[in-house]
Amino acid sequence: MNSWQIGNIKITRVVEMQVAGGTRFILPQATPETILPMRWLQPHFANDKGQLIMSIHALVIETPDRKMIVDTCIGNDKKRSIANWSNLQLPFLEDLQKAGYDRFDIDTVMCTHLHVDHVGWNTMLVDGEWIPTFPNAEYLMGKKEYEYWHNTEPDQLNDGLLEDSVKPVFDAGLVKLVPMDFEVCEGIYLEATPGHTPGHVSIHIESQDQHALITGDSIHHPCQIEKVQWSSSADYDQVASKQTRESLLAKYGDSNVLIIGTHFATPTAGYLRKEGSTYVLDVVSTDPVI
Ligand SMILES: [Zn+2]
Repeated sequence: MNSWQIGNIKITRVVEMQVAGGTRFILPQATPETILPMRWLQPHFANDKGQLIMSIHALVIETPDRKMIVDTCIGNDKKRSIANWSNLQLPFLEDLQKAGYDRFDIDTVMCTHLHVDHVGWNTMLVDGEWIPTFPNAEYLMGKKEYEYWHNTEPDQLNDGLLEDSVKPVFDAGLVKLVPMDFEVCEGIYLEATPGHTPGHVSIHIESQDQHALITGDSIHHPCQIEKVQWSSSADYDQVASKQTRESLLAKYGDSNVLIIGTHFATPTAGYLRKEGSTYVLDVVSTDPVI
């Protein structure tokens, strides 16, 4: 796992899975022919066959007095339409513990959006019942995002999401619905980055003049930094998602804001650096893999 220090805030990545290939269903334009010439993607984000490498991970944000987790992956025991995501039995909670975080110590859960690979560990299966994995946490969900899913028939990919990963934490009284610019605490606030879903947010972290942005699925893969027009087939509004990427580049390009992707493979974070008429992700070195 890797971690980054932003002033006095520590961000730690806890990986559920990392895979190469099989991602064309998300970014159909990312063929080997288009990916191989983007040399900067290798070796971290594409392999020498031109296949994309992607990760599913959670990010723990530790401030001097808070322990929060952002995007809780796919989870164990969930029945999902993607075979590789269904009925997982992975040691995510053990890995969280190895990173130094007990699930009972987490005080805040944040979901950038409500898709099956971002809410899974909201709950866990115990004696046939879905119970909150983080019973001492407040679960922050975007009000607009929740209302969309609450009023919409789920697509095949997200079928079951509300029942097994959202409703149980609601029933336990742990959810707080928040606006898209919500300030979680000093130095941590949401930024609206719609398009992938209607209420999608990114999470801005600021401490001692240092900044990071957790981008959720507004940028699924670093190739969309160079090819900003490549929207994902999983995007709710492909035009809006392109506009969101353009505004992120305009706002954070060539800045000191560390961009931490929610599906970016190891080393997962870097700076948006201008190269010619476009941008690339200038990765930062990471702690040794534990
Ligand atoms: Zn995702």
